[in-house]
Amino acid sequence: MPGRLFGTNGIRGVVNVEIDTALVLKVAASAGTLFAPGPVLLGSDVRLSSPAFKEAAAAGLMAAGCEVIDIGLTPTPAIQFLTTNMRAKGGIVITASHNPPHYNGVKVIDSDGIELSEEKERQVEEMVFGGSWAKPPWEGWRSLRQDANALDSYVEGVVAHLDPDAIANRRLTVVVDAGNSVGALATPRILERCGCRVISLNCQLDGTFPSRQPEPVPSALAELCEAVKAYGADFGVAHDGDADRAIFVDDVGVAHWGDRTFCLIAQDFLSDHPGSTIVTPVSSTRAIQDIASKHGAKIIWTRVGSVVVSHTMKRLNAPLGGEENGGIFYSPHLPVRDGAMASAMIANLLAKTGKKLSQLLEELPHRFMLKDKVRSPQPVPLTALEKLVDKEVERVERIDGLKLWLKDGSWVLIRRSGTEPAYRIFLESPSPERADELIRKYKSALSRIVAN
Ligand code: MG
Repeated sequence: MPGRLFGTNGIRGVVNVEIDTALVLKVAASAGTLFAPGPVLLGSDVRLSSPAFKEAAAAGLMAAGCEVIDIGLTPTPAIQFLTTNMRAKGGIVITASHNPPHYNGVKVIDSDGIELSEEKERQVEEMVFGGSWAKPPWEGWRSLRQDANALDSYVEGVVAHLDPDAIANRRLTVVVDAGNSVGALATPRILERCGCRVISLNCQLDGTFPSRQPEPVPSALAELCEAVKAYGADFGVAHDGDADRAIFVDDVGVAHWGDRTFCLIAQDFLSDHPGSTIVTPVSSTRAIQDIASKHGAKIIWTRVGSVVVSHTMKRLNAPLGGEENGGIFYSPHLPVRDGAMASAMIANLLAKTGKKLSQLLEELPHRFMLKDKVRSPQPVPLTALEKLVDKEVERVERIDGLKLWLKDGSWVLIRRSGTEPAYRIFLESPSPERADELIRKYKSALSRIVAN
């Protein structure tokens, strides 16, 4: 087989270089072979290439004998919810999620609302490479129709898990930064349904992403931090390009990594449901472990990647999952990450506790995380990375890449990115100074390793 198409989260690449309409058509026809006769839901984010890619996907699905329902511009989690809600056989979203505007991609959703399992990804790849997708005769072709109102059911589906009156009583002001993409279509509506005053920031849909990069890392959210302060808002939330991730800014204008807010949600959930199982990748804060231990809960550490978290949650019937990049998974809704659901859960938490977000975060165990990356077109063997193990290391873990637990309570994780030609470094320390010192040490050591 000529290699793999699917990365950690769907198929992605630079438009017309690594991924074009011809490839999208083949992927859709192959996925359609698994889903025929459908119906299959189809939607996209706002990228300039998305309309053509969506047409190609529709053609591929129909060519494989599927009925297609086009729901238009949509957050990924909305199409995931609607796939189960409308009892569709599957879904396809045209999006490159957090990647820059010159990228696009395909996420394939199974009938349970979760992205395809690795086994089914392999089946799709095999059909794409072998040209062996289903090719029904003329009478096997089905229709294409639009459903422009499908998002209404998604909005109601999220609100159904909340207490809108209790949230409304707290009279929250929230700034929503959609980064010019599809988060603008759902999160403001959901928060408004709960009586929040919503300030929309970067909610004009624009596939050139003029306001900020689509990846909502705290350092890219200066405008949101300023807006939260200027409006005296209770919190701000920023989504990535397909709005499955949510990064929060507290009431004093500080942006936090997703695993900090995940800790708050987990703490609240576990106080009502002690002893539950929580699923999170090895890149998450050690604080989640402390919180889980306090509530007799079990932490399952996984490889990095939302699809792995979702499938692990489903297998173990785990109610809650979270990621440091801003993914919150809430199984009573769906075990997939959902930026709008996460936003509503934070609003719910503020209403329930009566506290400010900055205060709740301040009460968490103090840890400082830094992330960086080192570009490297080719992967290096794990044995080369093991050169990073020195006398400061207490324990080595290999669930995903190399995780080094240091004697002073810090940890560092080095893993190959699933979406970019780079190594990602995640580092957490008990003090910011130590975190700074360590990230410099590991970044330069890793740069030397990949240069050899
Ligand atoms: Mg995303």
